[in-house]
Amino acid sequence: MTSTTTIQRLMDSSGAADRAFAHQLMETLAIPVFVLDTSSRVMLWNRACERLTGVPARDILGTRDHWRSFFEDRRPTLADLLIEERAAADGRIPTLHGPADDQHLTAESWCDMPRVGRRRYLAADASPIYDERGRLAAVVETLRDLTDEKLAQIALEQLATRDGLTGLANRRCFDDTLHAEWARSLRQRQPLSLLMVDVDNFKAYNDANGHLGGDECLKRIATAVASEMRANDLVARYGGEEFAVILPNQSLKGAASVAERIRTRVEQLQVPNRQAARHGTVSIGAATAIAAPDNSASELVAIADAALYRAKHMGRNRISLPLSETA
Ligand code: GH3
Ligand code: MG
Ligand code: MG
Repeated sequence: MTSTTTIQRLMDSSGAADRAFAHQLMETLAIPVFVLDTSSRVMLWNRACERLTGVPARDILGTRDHWRSFFEDRRPTLADLLIEERAAADGRIPTLHGPADDQHLTAESWCDMPRVGRRRYLAADASPIYDERGRLAAVVETLRDLTDEKLAQIALEQLATRDGLTGLANRRCFDDTLHAEWARSLRQRQPLSLLMVDVDNFKAYNDANGHLGGDECLKRIATAVASEMRANDLVARYGGEEFAVILPNQSLKGAASVAERIRTRVEQLQVPNRQAARHGTVSIGAATAIAAPDNSASELVAIADAALYRAKHMGRNRISLPLSETA
């Protein structure tokens, strides 16, 4: 009751004491707040905003430089966008301005924060303030620092989609991507290629170098495989010492050439495998299909697997294509 009365009093009154109180209230708020006038000049920059941005109010009040506190390159803040949007709306439908709940803007994004020197993920809300005649008088922007929450979310997403040892996509991410690309191939009538890459004689490598040595070897091979990928390709750790590569819009000929590049690249790592008396190598099976309603992505995996099996059978350190292509 008391607080309602106080706020009412603040709104009703234009007394100097109340204005001073309102100013003090804004200054003391733990929430970073700044206010722009209709020409985008900073009218208020509270202490929480100073702490968040590292920019003191005295450097910014009366200027249009507030964007520099958030971004390296010139970009409008949400408050600027709201002022622009209100100005445009005034031009279009002059009678429709005035206080309404749906006139605020809200957004979340990474900000450079040049003065503090560390990026922050900020949630911003910008709301218009109208004068007694219903004209836009100022825009207030409040900020929330969600960096910790965002980093935790990214870490969780990483955990859900990345393989812990190699940093490649994990099996689940592979399955999801393969199904999405299969559906795309069906829609666009474009070929979809798949490579199954298996490290040769890896059991022997482990026996000779220990499991940790084996892990290091897997990481090096993973990096080598990933280095041959284009932006839209996906390389995943399919299981133990096996990798899978999804190549959207790639013909079998193209897939074979990627496979050969991967094979050579791994060979060039010259990972010594004394037990097998040769360098660490991979065998690769390739498959390509244009998706059709009566077959499924798992058939593509089966064809690539069968090709991989033949590559192993023929002596390893080689690539193999589906039988129908080689006959
Ligand atoms: P092939 O050429 O026929 O593929 O022979 P291989 O020895 O590579 O195949 P096999 O399936 O007999 O052995 C695979 C080995 O990979 C056995 C397993 O211990 C090892 N392996 C699987 N996952 C990991 C891992 O995360 N780290 C390490 N160090 N070894 C792993
Ligand atoms: Mg193997
Ligand atoms: Mg294997």
